[in-house]
Order: sequence, then structure tokens, then C-alpha cells
Amino acid sequence: MAARTLDGKAVAAAVRAEVKRAVGELQQRSGLAPQLVAVLVGDDPASKVYVSNKIAACAEAGIRSQEILIPATAAEGDVLAAVRRLNDDPDVDGILVQLPLPKQIDRVKVLMAIDPAKDVDGLHVMNAGRLAMRLEGLVPCTPAGVIELLDRSGLAIAGMRAVIIGRSEIVGRPLATLLVHRDATVTQCHSKTRDLPAVARQADILIAAVGHPAFVRGEHIRAGAVVIDVGINRVSDLDLVRDVYGPDSPRVAQVQERGFTLMGDVHWREAVERAAWITPVPGGIGPLTIACLLRNTVRAARMRRESTAWA
Ligand code: NAP
Repeated sequence: MAARTLDGKAVAAAVRAEVKRAVGELQQRSGLAPQLVAVLVGDDPASKVYVSNKIAACAEAGIRSQEILIPATAAEGDVLAAVRRLNDDPDVDGILVQLPLPKQIDRVKVLMAIDPAKDVDGLHVMNAGRLAMRLEGLVPCTPAGVIELLDRSGLAIAGMRAVIIGRSEIVGRPLATLLVHRDATVTQCHSKTRDLPAVARQADILIAAVGHPAFVRGEHIRAGAVVIDVGINRVSDLDLVRDVYGPDSPRVAQVQERGFTLMGDVHWREAVERAAWITPVPGGIGPLTIACLLRNTVRAARMRRESTAWA
């Protein structure tokens, strides 16, 4: 039987509606809507799209937003100075620096420069530490989105065997922590994992955060598993697109018309034959990442303005 699709868009819309209500309440109490500032360094086309989607989502939720554009050739000091200005601005509640950064800029230095109370991507060591200690804090948006999708779709986490392919600090690692906190039994895989298909086949919940299109094949998936595809890859290879979606798929026409399609890390056709549930790309985890970013912005605003500093 073909897998059922987990509707990331619908779940994200529910989260966004809650955020909108929380924004209204905060505005009533403190007089101002929260403000998010996105810092975009360089002109990577995918990053530009991500930032403009985040800005549009802010407007829809009633969150004020700004985009700060810094040229690709900027020095590290320029980016650090921009972050510090935003840290010092009491009207800014959330700061996000869109990744990746150009080569000459040390990503870790920039992330560590963000005030942890405004770190809506949850990547500062202070927020990562709070997550590890199971203290309240700002949790990275994509892993939070995965948990939100499972919960709101009524899929159990406690007691399940979860296998995550990927161990990045943005997705794989915080997600492993969140799933362990929710009583899943978690295995984290990476490029040195031996016999990955056999390990992945143990999963009740299989999460792909690899960054390689259609990397996860049928042989990685236990029949009846929940498959969460975090990957977002721009793919122009028509042979690959035909193989993954079928020769008659609208994706083929999409590549012919606009030059690419967005493909996840999971081979769609093979996965739907084995999984019970699967997330589409686009329309799966992507919308939830944005919804959780908006929620983090409201949380950060509430915490700072109402001095309800976390323990
Ligand atoms: P990343 O930093 O490049 O990490 C990729 C991970 O995959 C690494 O841990 C790497 O292992 C592992 N890996 C690579 N090749 C492998 C292989 N052959 N076998 C097993 N593991 C392998 O990527 P990321 O930032 O986590 O992002 C992953 C994907 O999610 C990308 O497609 C990205 O675009 C997407 N993404 C989507 C959203 C969203 O909103 N949906 C948000 C963020 C990211 P090593 O550690 O051993 O190198």
C-alpha cells in the first residue's frame, strides 16, 4: 500500500495561527509587535529565497521584520559589527544569520556573537547547552518542526526506534536530543556509519538530513516506517527526476520550464512503496521550519520584554 503523506503545510498553518494569536496578545500587553531581523551575506539564490519566505511569513503572522543585506565580499568584522548592532537594539527581538556564509567568514564566530536571548535559530552554544540540559530555551527550528509534525499528526515518539541520517548542528544533532527527551531510542548515522541500509531499516521513524538528493532508497526503509525527509536539494538532472518521480510526473515539466525541481534526500517512488507515512518535499518539513522560527521570535520577544528570563 502506498504511504500516506504527512501534510507539513497544514500543520505549519496551525502553528502559524497560534503564533498570530500570541503576537496579538503580546502587542496588546507591550504595545509593539515582535521584530525579526534576517542577515543575508552574499547572493546565494537558495538563501535569498529562504530569507524572502521567512520575511513573508513574518508579515502574515503580524511580526515586524527587516532584511539586512551584506555583500559577499564583506569582511568577517563587518558581519560581526552588524550582529552586535542588532544585539544592542532594544527594538530587535530575533536575529537570524542565514547560512551558509561566504568562505572568509567564520560561521561559529558569527553565531556565537548573537545575543542568546535573540538567537531564534537556536544555534548559540548557550541555547544548544540549554537543550542538552533539558532547560527551556530557543530550540533549532527544523528539529522542532519535525517533533511538531509527528505530534500533531498523532504519531507516537515514545518507545519508537528513531534513526537519523545526519549529525549537523542545525538538524541532526539537536533532533537526536529532542527525540531522546521524548523517549525514543535514537541512532545517529553519518558518513562513516557501516552498513547504513541495515541500520536505517531498524527505524520506526527514519529521518533523512543528508543533503544528497534521493539518497535514501527502498532498501533503507522498514515496511511501515514513518519517513521524515528534511533534505531540500535543487535538482536539474532530468534522468534523476524521472527515476525518482516517474517519467510522467509534473516534476519533469517543472525542470524543463524553470530549470530545477526541489527534491528531498529520500527517493520518493521507492519510499512510498515501503513507508506508512512520508513527508513530501516541498511541503513537508520546510513550512514547519518557518512556523517554528516565527514561534521562536515570539518566545524571544516575550522573554525579553516581560523579563521572564529562563531559569
Ligand atoms: P550538513 O551539515 O551537510 O550535514 C549532512 C549530514 O549528512 C552530515 O552529518 C554527514 O555526515 C551526513 N552524510 C553525508 N553523506 C553521507 C553518507 N553518504 N552517508 C551517511 N551520512 C552522510 O547538512 P544539514 O545542514 O544537516 O542539512 C541536511 C539537508 O537538510 C540538506 O538538504 C538541507 O538543505 C536540508 N535542510 C532543510 C531544512 C528545512 O527547513 N527543511 C532546514 C535545514 C536543512 P558527516 O557528519 O560524517 O559528514
